[in-house]
Amino acid sequence: MNKKRKTRIEKCLASPEIYYSLLVFLMFLCVFLAYTTYQARAERWEMLQPRELVKYHENLFFYGDISDEGLQGHLDSLVYIPDWLVNHFYNAGGNVYLSDTMFFPQPNNIPERRAWGMFWAGNDVDAPEIWIYQDRYAKFISAHEFGHYLDFILGTASESEAFVELFEKEHEFFLRFYEERSVLSYSVLSNAFSTYDEYFAEFFAWYCLGHLNKNLYSTLIDKCPETHVYFDELLTKLEIIGNH
Ligand SMILES: [Zn+2]
Repeated sequence: MNKKRKTRIEKCLASPEIYYSLLVFLMFLCVFLAYTTYQARAERWEMLQPRELVKYHENLFFYGDISDEGLQGHLDSLVYIPDWLVNHFYNAGGNVYLSDTMFFPQPNNIPERRAWGMFWAGNDVDAPEIWIYQDRYAKFISAHEFGHYLDFILGTASESEAFVELFEKEHEFFLRFYEERSVLSYSVLSNAFSTYDEYFAEFFAWYCLGHLNKNLYSTLIDKCPETHVYFDELLTKLEIIGNH
């Protein structure tokens, strides 16, 4: 009898159906686990809304599910971003959302998600939004997204003739500069920073925070002198207007 049973098991294992069934089961299990994880995060977001969100600047910034490091990085960046720009964002009803994952459920229907952070303003939202998904580099990402906000309120200055000309002249060095200091390859970086708006936002971040790493910043100024002058003049002019 034992032998007979063994044969039956062997037969069963030899048939492909058992493997198909197992595969289908595993696929269902994966979908189920992904769904329940997403649901759990969504519920956490609901819970965070009334109880745990830290408020700063009255109703300006809402902090989501992020580590203390991420929160601190964001707050640190605000010290170096021009006050008038932060206030402008505040007056426009802007919010900053900090989350430790880009898969965190979002309250608005945002069509495009980027890996580390995102600036969003337009049809689907009443007020500008900044999303930060990466706590480790939150300081820099925060400044970068405020760069997109600056670009936005200037009516896409990054596409102006003057800026496009600077981009053509100097962004190549900018990409190499990153490649040499990053684990990311040139092809990944050129994807991320080869558009006018990304060059604008990232250079703005360097302009605000660059002095924190003087050696790197002086190399950047040395190799991208005209973009640096552009931001120097633009922000000096806007500082005067913005503070009146
Ligand atoms: Zn960007």
